[in-house]
Amino acid sequence: MAENGVAMQLINGSRIVIVGGGPAGSFTALHLLRLAREMHLDLAVTILEVRDFNRPGPGGCNRCAGILSSTLVQNLKMLGLSLPPEVIQAELNTYVLHLSGRELPIRQPDPSQRIFSVYRGSGPRWGDPPFPHSFDGWLLHQAQLQGATVQRAQVRAISPGHRPIVATAHENLQADLVVLATGVNARAPLDPAWGYRPPHTEMMAQNEIPLPGGLSNNRVHIFFDYPPGLVFGALIPKGRYANISLLGHKLPATAINDFLEGQGLFSLFPGRVPLLCSCRPRVAVSPARGYYADRLVVVGDAAVTRLYKDGIGAAFQTAAAAARTAIQQGVSRQDFAAGYRPVCRRITLDNFYGRLLFRLWAVTRRSPILLDTCRQMILAEADLPPAAQSYTRIVWSMFTGDETYQRVFWLLFRHPAFHSLWQSLVKTWEA
Ligand SMILES: Cc1cc2nc3c(=O)[nH]c(=O)nc-3n(C[C@H](O)[C@H](O)[C@H](O)COP(=O)(O)OP(=O)(O)OC[C@H]3O[C@@H](n4cnc5c(N)ncnc54)[C@H](O)[C@@H]3O)c2cc1C
Repeated sequence: MAENGVAMQLINGSRIVIVGGGPAGSFTALHLLRLAREMHLDLAVTILEVRDFNRPGPGGCNRCAGILSSTLVQNLKMLGLSLPPEVIQAELNTYVLHLSGRELPIRQPDPSQRIFSVYRGSGPRWGDPPFPHSFDGWLLHQAQLQGATVQRAQVRAISPGHRPIVATAHENLQADLVVLATGVNARAPLDPAWGYRPPHTEMMAQNEIPLPGGLSNNRVHIFFDYPPGLVFGALIPKGRYANISLLGHKLPATAINDFLEGQGLFSLFPGRVPLLCSCRPRVAVSPARGYYADRLVVVGDAAVTRLYKDGIGAAFQTAAAAARTAIQQGVSRQDFAAGYRPVCRRITLDNFYGRLLFRLWAVTRRSPILLDTCRQMILAEADLPPAAQSYTRIVWSMFTGDETYQRVFWLLFRHPAFHSLWQSLVKTWEA
């Protein structure tokens, strides 16, 4: 709250430097500018972003599967935004789970909860024009329209001080508040004196292929079991293309080819599968430490994200909480501890439930009895009204990230079928 007796608060003319113009950086700028307007506060917000999102391929892309949860799509409205049609690549209404060679379609239980696929950059490296519109580029432009200054620059160092200094190759910017939004795929350029420790990460694997003929543009396909270490692999339609995203532990360098071969996907193409864009992005699997200090707050993946799902939604949440704290409380370490840390802790706690759910799912998949019961329950709900499709909603939410893991966990735990299922399983084991 106080620095040498002076309140650490944003005032008219305060300068905020946001390092990183991915979703977390742009969302923070949008929240800050909206709240500042409400409080008649005039802030100078600058975003420094190294990438050009108009470039196709990994160079212009914050490499991810690009599924936007319905919660995020709703939350955009809070900022007065709605996704333009040219950014949307596909509306997704079914997840097809491939389980022991059989398909189990999970249809969106509530059609009003729309989810979409987007490109983070401008499409695959070896794609053809016209190149798709970038979600990150659109969002950054919205921040610019709301009054943020956007500069294409790489930040080399952020040094602490009475007013922290953000250094690029060409200038040193003094800031009243620095927002670090560099994700987990670049080194955070923070001086060690800040005490920041980045999240633990794991390396994933992605590629892009032309959308195979016969594959619907509304259906995501989810695969399990192969290659070893895979938690799940997804084939996600995006207009003319489909993204392959593999999430797992210690995936080998050959993961994409192993996956295509092991899951029988080579047969989708008559000749060689045209692989259009390869990347090995990192995903955060733990929260960061020391993610706030006097006049510094870390947002998005670089602070904490949701396990495997809806990372862009988590970027929105952390950005909103950091901006609210900075404008309504102040920018000291104590202010962020009181206003920002609880939101990050809630996400961390939710991931604990997420881990339980994915473990439970792994057990279910390995047990033919459980798997068959699960299949029967989902198929039995197909013609029921959305409110009665409780089991479908549990599986849908788990794979789309559309509800918190905690909520999904308790929905499952309180589901009457869950108890009768375990009882019958225990009887089978005892027999
Ligand atoms: C395989 C995979 C699949 C995923 N699928 C999904 C999904 O379907 N849906 C979903 O919601 N989330 C998904 N995610 C998670 C999602 O990608 C992240 O949660 C999200 O991108 C976090 O946003 P961010 O702004 O914190 O970080 P980033 O998106 O990484 O953005 C950081 C930005 O900072 C810039 N930057 C970095 N260093 C500097 C520097 N020194 N100077 C200037 N600029 C800098 C970078 O260029 C970048 O633009 C997935 C992740 C992976 C790995």
